[in-house]
Amino acid sequence: MYAVPVFSPADTIAVLATAPVRAAVGVVRLSGPRARQCARAILTLPRDLEPRRATVTRAARRREAPAGEEGPGPAARAIDRVVATFFPAPQSYTGEDVVEISAHGSVALLREILLSAIDAGARLAEPGEFTLRAFLNGRMDLVQAEAVADLVDAVTPLQARVAFDQLEGTLTRAIAALDGELFDLTARLEASVDFPDEGFHFIEAGDAARVARRVIGGIDALLATAARGRLVREGRQIAILGRPNVGKSSLFNWLVGADRAIVSSRPGTTRDMLTEAIDLDGIRLGLVDTAGIRSSEDEVEREAVSRGRRAAAVADLVLLVLDRSRPLDETDRALLRETAGAARIVVINKTDLAPAWSTESPDGLARIVEAGRAAAVSLKTGAGLEELRSAMRAALEAGDIPRDGPVVANARHEALLRAAREPMARALANLEAGGEQASEELVLADLSAARRCLEEVTGRRTSEDVLKRIFERFCVGK
Ligand code: GDP
Repeated sequence: MYAVPVFSPADTIAVLATAPVRAAVGVVRLSGPRARQCARAILTLPRDLEPRRATVTRAARRREAPAGEEGPGPAARAIDRVVATFFPAPQSYTGEDVVEISAHGSVALLREILLSAIDAGARLAEPGEFTLRAFLNGRMDLVQAEAVADLVDAVTPLQARVAFDQLEGTLTRAIAALDGELFDLTARLEASVDFPDEGFHFIEAGDAARVARRVIGGIDALLATAARGRLVREGRQIAILGRPNVGKSSLFNWLVGADRAIVSSRPGTTRDMLTEAIDLDGIRLGLVDTAGIRSSEDEVEREAVSRGRRAAAVADLVLLVLDRSRPLDETDRALLRETAGAARIVVINKTDLAPAWSTESPDGLARIVEAGRAAAVSLKTGAGLEELRSAMRAALEAGDIPRDGPVVANARHEALLRAAREPMARALANLEAGGEQASEELVLADLSAARRCLEEVTGRRTSEDVLKRIFERFCVGK
């Protein structure tokens, strides 16, 4: 059992599990040894809640009678009709006694219920505390606990699918299988070391090497999913750049698929910065529209250039928009220069109008077009937009995510798998060099180092610091 100072498992915790916004229903959740007593104090039900049975009852707010007033002790006032469900330990989300109270989704009302819970001895839960308890009580491993946070954060269906697979234990099982092989190999090698007279009776060097190779292969297969997995989990930032009136807002709107930004024919009337998350084949793209450079003419270029530099620095992909119906000017050229080093697609817009320049002209555009880093489009007619989408997909390297297989989507997991691979490769080299007794000790040390990394992924061995860092990320109520 871990001792995490900020969380005391003896406490009964309460939290608003749903978002604090007006909604049809809101849920207050209690967990801990006194969850059922707290629920009794909140509810008007004359008996205890039955396990796993949704019960329609009332929530009441109990108050001491004001001083000077006659009355039989605390006065109770019903405040809502609710549905309460008791999940006894250990078959609950946290592994402790849990009570869920569904009330009408008024923030004021839910707050009253929460206050009643606190009056009855519960305390407000820390972010992630429910899931931390589930982890500490063995209801899920660390990979699954992290998947809960990812699932709640999922914006695209693909993000949700990858997080759910992880919650279902797909990655956990893959790592447990590798760890199991290493456990077995270690036991047999140790036996060989402990009983040297028997020589390599417990395992032949060739067999040991084969197992090590298989484990490395397994690690590599997992790591091969990491680039795409992280792309799906983390998403990417895209910046749209260009001088005023080239069609940045139109592009932004097309990508967002709704008229969110104001499109106007006067330069610089859009708001300064708009951000929006869109879904490109399951990849979450954060869009930054830097439209509307609201500066005087001579400041325009300077401003555009500095924006270009900043955007190229923070964005994973820059969409630089040019207007083909007007001659390229200094700002265009400066932006082309400033973003040359970034992952970039040049969007040549307004191809429905008579061209004022061609891509064969100087400015190095011919090279960009040839390299497939440009898309000629008309945001007015829609021409070329599917090609632009493909170019974006290619630039982000957004390929397919394997179905039903384990996916490594988390940087922490990836780093630990890489850390496990290193001693494994060393162990394999030693095994292949021959089964000398001296090197056996080294092999065992390396196998043990590799196992430590794998077990840190699932949380079988994890420091308090790591746990704290992981659970701090959670939203309140999870
Ligand atoms: P921004 O200032 O770069 O954000 O540009 P806007 O998206 O506001 O577009 C400026 C003007 O160009 C608007 O009147 C748009 O309707 C128009 N526009 C944008 N794309 C095209 C296009 O492909 N063809 C034509 N003909 N007009 C366009």
